[in-house]
Amino acid sequence: MAIPIRSCIACRKRESWTKVLRVVVRTGEVIPDPLRREIGRGAWLHQGCLDLAKSRGAFVRAFRSSTPLKTDALDEYVRLLLAKEQSDNPSDS
Ligand SMILES: [Zn+2]
Repeated sequence: MAIPIRSCIACRKRESWTKVLRVVVRTGEVIPDPLRREIGRGAWLHQGCLDLAKSRGAFVRAFRSSTPLKTDALDEYVRLLLAKEQSDNPSDS
């Protein structure tokens, strides 16, 4: 069975879409779309690549935005995700 492949916008690695997070833009803000159901242009990234994506301006480029995009909601989402992962695997650092 073919698994859809997506490229992370930050590190450019090609990845099964189950391993990368889909994000979309709503009113100038990048928001997570974990269910992959939002309409419109989406971008994909590893949750661990969020900082890299921001430092590279990858969101602005991926969404062809002429203005900077806020990432507050996405920052919070990824922060919780990473915190949860750590509590699930306390020995895996
Ligand atoms: Zn990546």
